[in-house]
Order: sequence, then structure tokens, then C-alpha cells
Amino acid sequence: MKDLISIFRKVMDIPFPRRCRVCNSIIGEEKKGDICIGCWRNIRLIERPLCSYCGISLQISYDLPEGLNGYYICRRCRETPPEFDSARSVCHYDGILKRLIHIYKYNRVKRLGDDLLSLMINYIKSGNNIHPPPNIIMYVPLHRRRLKERGFDQSYILARGIGDYLNILLITDNLSKTRHTKPQAKLSRNERLNNIKGTFIVKRPEEIRKMNILLIDDVFTTGTTVNECAMVLKKGGAGRVDVLTLARAVRSVTYDFC
Ligand SMILES: [Zn+2]
Ligand SMILES: [Zn+2]
Repeated sequence: MKDLISIFRKVMDIPFPRRCRVCNSIIGEEKKGDICIGCWRNIRLIERPLCSYCGISLQISYDLPEGLNGYYICRRCRETPPEFDSARSVCHYDGILKRLIHIYKYNRVKRLGDDLLSLMINYIKSGNNIHPPPNIIMYVPLHRRRLKERGFDQSYILARGIGDYLNILLITDNLSKTRHTKPQAKLSRNERLNNIKGTFIVKRPEEIRKMNILLIDDVFTTGTTVNECAMVLKKGGAGRVDVLTLARAVRSVTYDFC
């Protein structure tokens, strides 16, 4: 029956309704892309206040003393300052967005890349500027073995779209991953550190010297990967490394002063 309907539609040249890749409901004409408006609205953006360095959402349960001007540093960044100058993420890595990223990466539904990119572009459009303005854009690369398995590099696609939108040069094939590593998601923090240590190199330091780099990645989990990349880029002579990721796995931390 389903086949008959599809033949009839083809013969009569009736377009198929677009269906949401997450919940399979029909997408209205007013909504672009492959995700319905209901799912789109359920993607949760990161709430302020944030740690000024790593960008984690902070829960502050008491009245703040005056004079802080919204400048907070979380306990982890105070104890171990990160190698990057700042990191920000657009939304939480849970619910609809987690499913969406999963479908995109593992089912290789490349078209979803446009929906994910538009979340990042909307974030920049709504005044979340990156300070100071970057000179170049880079991204956390996949190892060539993983790239071959997956067929595309999701962070490269996001970085290319952001570069086009901001009209900033995207540098490719300079920051390189030299060793195949286990997926970070399944490891503890210490294991992540050991897993990723020494895996990235800068091939052409002259290209990044004194540059303010906007480094793009898809998911910020504990920040180990972007931190390692920032360290390598800084050693290679970069002026600043500001990180922007689509999603963040850790929801929030409770803020304390001491
Ligand atoms: Zn939906
Ligand atoms: Zn922090």
C-alpha cells in the first residue's frame, strides 16, 4: 500500500511532506530544515550566568556581593586555569539535541548539519559575540581513520558555515590529529586526559602565529579535547584561542566564592 501511494505521488508530481528526523511528525511549510517546530523549541539553550572562562552554567543560590559585574570563575577553572581563553556552548547536550547529533553523526544524515549550524549562527546573531573578534577559524579535527568510517567531519562542516557567516578565513589541515583514540564519552576524566595527550599537532605554525583563533567543536564534555588543542595552538604561537561548541554535556555547577 505504501509503495502504491509513493508511485501515485511520483506520477502526480505531489511532493512528499517533510518529516521531522527526531519525532517523525510532518513539518509545516513555515519551518525550514529537517526538524519540526516542536522539537526545535525543546532544544535547551545554555542559561546564564556562566563561568567567564569555561562557560559552564552556574547555579548561584544566594545574593551576590556588589562589584562582580557578572564576572564569575568556576571552582575548576580557579584550581586549574584552562589553556583556552574562553569557551562557550550554544545548547545542552541532552534530549532532542542529543538524539539529533546522534542521528547526524552515526546515521550519517548529512542534511541535519544545516539545522545544527543554524543553531550556532542564531547564537552569534543574537549578540553572543566572541571577544576579541577572531582572525581565523579552526576546528577540532577527526583522525583520518574516523573520518573514513564516518565519511564527513561534523566539526569541519560547522566551522565552514560559521566562517562563511562571519566572513573569516577557515584554516584546514593545519591542526591535525595524529593518533586514533578511544571515544572520549566512555572514559573518566583522568582517562580522557591520558587518551588525548599528545595526539594533536600544528603542521604550519607560521599560519597561526599571533592569531586570535575561534576553535569550533560539536560537543564540550569535560573540555579535555579543546583544552589539548588550545595548548598545542598556543605552543604553535597563537595569540588567543576562544572555543565555541554546539553543545555541552555538563548541565551546570553550583557556584561558590572560595
Ligand atoms: Zn519533531
Ligand atoms: Zn570554568
